Amino acid sequence: MSDCLFCKIIAKKVPAKIIYDDEAITAFEDVNPQAPVHTLIVPKKHLSTTLDITEEDNELIGRLIRVANRVAMEKGIAERGFRLVMNTNPEAGQSVYHIHLHLLGGRPMHWPPG
Ligand code: 5GP
Ligand code: ZN
Repeated sequence: MSDCLFCKIIAKKVPAKIIYDDEAITAFEDVNPQAPVHTLIVPKKHLSTTLDITEEDNELIGRLIRVANRVAMEKGIAERGFRLVMNTNPEAGQSVYHIHLHLLGGRPMHWPPG
């Protein structure tokens, strides 16, 4: 999508601190971190919300979580714990309409979330 911020980051037309990149997935640091670790794991395929995920994306979504696990291990927070979040639509606070998995950690996470 030509006007999608995360498509532009994936295409390296908008700068970001990219920490992982393969043929299907890019991960970069959130510009406004909410925890000491706040990385966004993003499929290169443009899907606006989780509601657009179909059976053909099964493998992609599995890979997305495995990249998040890998980043958590590399950042040393896997054993302590971390949170994976995908916000869908306005009431959940989705602000970028290209699906992304938030990896949050490095501090205690509270429940219920705000
Ligand atoms: P959402 O609110 O859609 O779940 O999450 C969007 C996330 O993208 C937010 O945490 C926000 O800080 C982050 N974000 C928004 N614009 C940019 C940007 O230009 N660069 C980076 N690296 N992150 C961004
Ligand atoms: Zn996009």
